[in-house]
Amino acid sequence: MIVVMKSNATPQQIQHMAERIESFGLRVHVIEGTERTVLAAIGEKREETKESLARGDGVDKVVPILASYKIASREVKEETSVVRTGSLEVGGQNIAVIAGPCSVESEEQILSSAKAIQAAGATALRGGAFKPRTSPYSFQGMKEEGLKLLALAREETGLSVVTEVMATEQVELVAKYADVLQIGARNMQNYALLEAVGKCGKPVLLKRSPSGTIDEFLLAAEYILDAGNPDVMLCERGIRTFETHTRFTLPLATVGYLHERTHLPVVVDPSHGTGIASLVTPMAAASVAAGADGLIVEVHPDPETAVSDGYQSLDFAQFEDLMVRCRAVAKAVDREIAEAAVESV
Ligand code: PEP
Ligand code: MN
Repeated sequence: MIVVMKSNATPQQIQHMAERIESFGLRVHVIEGTERTVLAAIGEKREETKESLARGDGVDKVVPILASYKIASREVKEETSVVRTGSLEVGGQNIAVIAGPCSVESEEQILSSAKAIQAAGATALRGGAFKPRTSPYSFQGMKEEGLKLLALAREETGLSVVTEVMATEQVELVAKYADVLQIGARNMQNYALLEAVGKCGKPVLLKRSPSGTIDEFLLAAEYILDAGNPDVMLCERGIRTFETHTRFTLPLATVGYLHERTHLPVVVDPSHGTGIASLVTPMAAASVAAGADGLIVEVHPDPETAVSDGYQSLDFAQFEDLMVRCRAVAKAVDREIAEAAVESV
């Protein structure tokens, strides 16, 4: 259930109610909205608890949360949450664009990518150092060496870094270098990992599993939120269907549906969602039109030689074109995408 505080409730009243909730053996999550604060009380509760909490000073009402995901639900917060870290802001008026190679491959590759995507208007750098590959014989990533190169790229450009963490025991290491920890599609239901990133102190980009329902996706996000991390971004990256013309099927109705159900910001990955470079820009533009709060796009200096996902990666000129097109669509839906720093990259 949620304890909705009055808009003029004092910090002391809010603190008092949080303690009251805990005194009933419930976990409390304080969710600060622009209008008022809401306290989500999680756990087994009795009718008397509700009545007792409703009498507290500064309390407007106590209402049940109907959704199975509690803290993620739009019921507890009307406005979309904004996740901020360094150069990256997701969930506000501006549509964030996170771009970079699938895998970090070398200093030259990541630095040139970072500079090019920044010049085109991207506000964060992506790049995998730990790579979840379908085959154990494929390139598995540069690991800590790759993380160091990402940190170097941040130093040179000021761009926040988004990179995947694949296992619980890697969380501390990845959090040392990254600004945002990405949970890959294959790990959406790795609950121990979700709990670990819930305690890592850094924002998380949670990718949808290709076989996960939206309820399962939101419950996965709930694990991270319930572990104490409020900075979760959801990423639609395509699901597995009977269709084989694209690598995955990218369902953009997810964007609007998630916005109805949750206050968490929604990012779309048109690169993995299509698996085909020529389809990335049209689907990125469609994602913006559908209301996405951010995009994550694979960009490589020379896609032909990429060690992973070259087929779906854009080169710098193609990415610049994506940005121009998405900017135009953003304007049409009353959003904005950061301007390019230079005319041409
Ligand atoms: C990636 O971002 O390179 C990646 C492996 O994505 P996903 O987990 O969506 O397959
Ligand atoms: Mn990839």
